[in-house]
Amino acid sequence: MEAPNSGMMMQPVHPGYPMNPVGANPMMLQGPNYPPAMNPVMAPGFYPLVNTNALAPQAAPYPQFTNIPGYEGMSDDGSGKFLPPPPVVGPGPDALPTPSNKDWTIPSITQEMAKQALLDYVSGQCCYGSSPVEEMEIQQMKPFNTYRYRLETFTESRSCEWVTKPLTNDKLDGPSNGPAPQPWDIILEPPALFHEETKKQSIPHTSSKKECEECHGKGKIICQKCNGNGRVKCETCNGTGRSAGEECSNCMGTMSQGCKTCNQTNVQTCPGCAGKGQVVSYIEMTVAWKNNLYEFIPAQNSEFPTDLFKKVPPLVNFPDASINQASQTAVQQHYSQFISSCRILKQRQTIEWLPLTKVEYNWKGKSCKYFVYGRENKVETKDYPSTCCCVIL
Ligand SMILES: [Zn+2]
Ligand SMILES: [Zn+2]
Ligand SMILES: [Zn+2]
Repeated sequence: MEAPNSGMMMQPVHPGYPMNPVGANPMMLQGPNYPPAMNPVMAPGFYPLVNTNALAPQAAPYPQFTNIPGYEGMSDDGSGKFLPPPPVVGPGPDALPTPSNKDWTIPSITQEMAKQALLDYVSGQCCYGSSPVEEMEIQQMKPFNTYRYRLETFTESRSCEWVTKPLTNDKLDGPSNGPAPQPWDIILEPPALFHEETKKQSIPHTSSKKECEECHGKGKIICQKCNGNGRVKCETCNGTGRSAGEECSNCMGTMSQGCKTCNQTNVQTCPGCAGKGQVVSYIEMTVAWKNNLYEFIPAQNSEFPTDLFKKVPPLVNFPDASINQASQTAVQQHYSQFISSCRILKQRQTIEWLPLTKVEYNWKGKSCKYFVYGRENKVETKDYPSTCCCVIL
């Protein structure tokens, strides 16, 4: 009786080398089913078999380096790598400046302007007829002018983690060069205010080298493509030995071909150490500058879709001004939200007036309406009475 697994290729044996238990490596179970005569030359037992897809990151280096003062918040599982800034002494956010100009009236549009706006809109639509605009009687023009309040809080956050890279020829900057500087003592030039950016920086004096865990210092691992066989399934005939009804010309019917990944050497350069056999570990800090936006547009009960204002340039811009409680609340909210985890570098407030007029009109006894909005007198309408000028015969 045949054993159920007899069709599967057996896992290669690597004498004197610690291996995964048989069957533990899914790549082996999915391997091509070579005829016994083709059974490949085994990879030299000297090199380890590694599944690079399932590798755990190489953890912190030696225990004596894991408790660097100021970096205790880092943990191996990735949580707590975030390093809050030292507490800020003193009061909260600055008092807001009093606006110097309170005369923020928006000029209202005339009936002529409203008509022209609608005409421009209609002529921009493929099939709209313009006779309703020419013949319309405007009943009412109602202003719904509103504003958009914006608070931007520009913050800097710092987080650290151990990274491992192949050893280079650079001189190793280890603890013998002195204690590591505290994470928030490292001076970095921030980008222009309110411009987001991320920078990475290695922490001085935290480097150490060690043997690569993936290849055990050998610099090479067994070829991932052919599992150390030196041969893989023939690409031309997909391992059937036949192509277009004839014997496959690529493999001459043998169903396999030489592995191009390792050039049939059965091994490949270790990706963990780039073949060096040794790696260097150090703390890497990620500094992120972020612009946190708070936006507020009061409801204006006009049935106008407020989202449209997002596409409209502002009529007037008032930097660093405050007009109501909303800004006080927003500033305080951002302050308490970010102060414990980030450094707040700058806050800025803007208020933009958003012109909005609702126009009600009559055309051939039908009541319709549209909105004129924004600095450029754009139009929004849902019930324009002549949306198709095509004649159907
Ligand atoms: Zn073939
Ligand atoms: Zn190979
Ligand atoms: Zn390695």
